[in-house]
Amino acid sequence: MLKLYSLISGSSGNCSVVSDGKTHIMIDCGTSGKRAFEALKAIDIDPGALKAIFVTHEHSDHIRGVGVVARKLKIPVYATHGTHAEMGIGNIDDSQMMFVTPDIPEVINDIEITPYTIPHDAEEPCCYSFSDGRDKVTIATDIGFMSASLLSRISGSKSIILESNHDIDMLRYGEYPYPLKQRILGSFGHLSNAAAAETALELIKSGTEHIMLGHLSDKNNLPELAQMVTYNYLTDNNINVGTDVTLQVAARYDITRFAE
Ligand SMILES: [Zn+2]
Ligand SMILES: [Zn+2]
Repeated sequence: MLKLYSLISGSSGNCSVVSDGKTHIMIDCGTSGKRAFEALKAIDIDPGALKAIFVTHEHSDHIRGVGVVARKLKIPVYATHGTHAEMGIGNIDDSQMMFVTPDIPEVINDIEITPYTIPHDAEEPCCYSFSDGRDKVTIATDIGFMSASLLSRISGSKSIILESNHDIDMLRYGEYPYPLKQRILGSFGHLSNAAAAETALELIKSGTEHIMLGHLSDKNNLPELAQMVTYNYLTDNNINVGTDVTLQVAARYDITRFAE
């Protein structure tokens, strides 16, 4: 069984882990190496057993600790050519630099990892789905808008960490400078609570059983609000949250495990 954990999530830092019990893979490391190792131990994974880090894009809330972890553990860092070129993670050995291509799966032991292009203001950013042949789990954050093609690719995920970045009104009337507001609201920014709710409904129709809302903005969202917007939208569309699907919000600075 594939397990997905959020170690931290939000505009302040993102780091997740996928594990089938034998093979453990980290996705992004937007925190210090020390904190990443502590979090791994807290979910009973020996950091030394980590097999690889997959990076979605070069923004600092995703790569802060990637270099340290990769150097310490001597493990490969998988990313697109664009992300590798743009992320400054210090020196890692050439043999640790692994390149992914959207839609082309990588295989590590019994886990298949597929990158998908995401609309976001970075260099060749991608999200990842993981499959053990039975279940598929996905981390889908930093997404300007949910295109039909991306939705079709992440459909069928049993569990998903889905971006619910901001409340559009909190952002519009909040303190961010106008250009930053435009960036976040634009097609290469972040998914709003309302967009997350719509995506959640489509995912549930495709078989998704567990949804964890993540990558919440510190200034333009609240965990209760994100949860409420998706909950209400699903309920209005005859989804019984708790029976048909579990819905939770990933903690900003803490480990969040999926409800079973
Ligand atoms: Zn980003
Ligand atoms: Zn981000």
